[in-house]
Amino acid sequence: MKILSVNCGSSSLKFQMYEMPEKEVLISGNFERIGLENSFYSYKINGEKTKKEASLPNHGEAVKILVQELLDNNIVNSLDEIKGIGHRVVQGADKFDRTVIIDESVKETISELSKLAPLHNPAALIGINAFEQYVKDATATAVFDTAFHQTMKEEQYIYALPYDWYTKYGIRKYGAHGTSHKYITKYMQDYFKENKKLIICHIGSGGSITAVKDGKCVDTSMGFTPNAGIVMGTRCGDIDASIIPFMIDNGLTSKDIDTAINKESGLKGITGGISDSRDIEDGIKEGNKKCILAQKLFVRSVVNYIAKYYVLLNGADAIIFTAGIGENSPETRMQIMESLSSLGIKGDNEANNSRGKFTKISSSDSTVECFVVPTNEELMIAEDTYELVK
Ligand code: ADP
Repeated sequence: MKILSVNCGSSSLKFQMYEMPEKEVLISGNFERIGLENSFYSYKINGEKTKKEASLPNHGEAVKILVQELLDNNIVNSLDEIKGIGHRVVQGADKFDRTVIIDESVKETISELSKLAPLHNPAALIGINAFEQYVKDATATAVFDTAFHQTMKEEQYIYALPYDWYTKYGIRKYGAHGTSHKYITKYMQDYFKENKKLIICHIGSGGSITAVKDGKCVDTSMGFTPNAGIVMGTRCGDIDASIIPFMIDNGLTSKDIDTAINKESGLKGITGGISDSRDIEDGIKEGNKKCILAQKLFVRSVVNYIAKYYVLLNGADAIIFTAGIGENSPETRMQIMESLSSLGIKGDNEANNSRGKFTKISSSDSTVECFVVPTNEELMIAEDTYELVK
């Protein structure tokens, strides 16, 4: 059965088509600069990449081109072979605790939740509507980044703010990266053949740490928005909230602050411009003091969450590293594991020298097993969709 996994941003559309349940990727690709000048798209079939320039005034045009490419490349002989389309939706808040089939009321709720994710939910809706127009027979599903975290208890998700900020404005922790955390949880369930206590470190340019017990999220580091938790590429993570009114009193607008804390902070803020951890690592080798400081803050913020969740879970069975940094940076992983040595956690230098593949990286006498597990959000979206469609 052919299932398409879709991730729409305000000016992009990423897709991946799977043959399910075999999990075979038939085609994957990306439309970029939708609604802007110099738009183009690229796709990969059997490892072979094609890139084309095209006028992409809106997402509808991208979908129209996509379906034509599917036909021209014999990925499908007719569009009714596409049985399911899974759409990534960033914010489901407390309205969705799982993947759902999209109907008018689901679309309305996603639209209402745009107030919590003004950049992302509208983009997902545009994608959903565009596919409805061109692929009429497929069942569309919404896969929410927040759904996996809906199992958190109130004492985990409530902020110690006036309670009516929660009831009136919906201010609480929702978390993010849930599709990735769910994928890793299922992967580790398959590996251990049972549910274990997991601490999952999804660390890429955005990052979140999640505590998992009995296959469910107990707590997660991102909050009301993805800006909470650990230090990230350009986001500040946890800070003292009073800094914000202080800076408003110093002349910044809320928009200035929003830009500063989301786009100009984190590794980039500390170093004055370097947000990619590969460049941070190069800077450290050259003795760049800001890079050394940024890396220390980053590692410390991850270690703090792991330690906190170790206590919350009353001990952990496994720590998993995933996403760009988690999968590809042995140095960062080793620094994190070394900082956890007081818990009896010990990395294996040789095993840890691994990139982008499933590896056990802790030594045999480590109290907690540590792993690298590549995440696959697109596959998780396809699997959830397949389960609903079949
Ligand atoms: P996101 O999905 O949040 O945009 P990714 O999970 O793709 O981010 O992670 C991207 C980040 O991963 C890059 O910014 C970079 O910091 C980091 N990264 C990728 N490859 C490496 C590497 N070989 N060594 C260190 N860091 C890496």
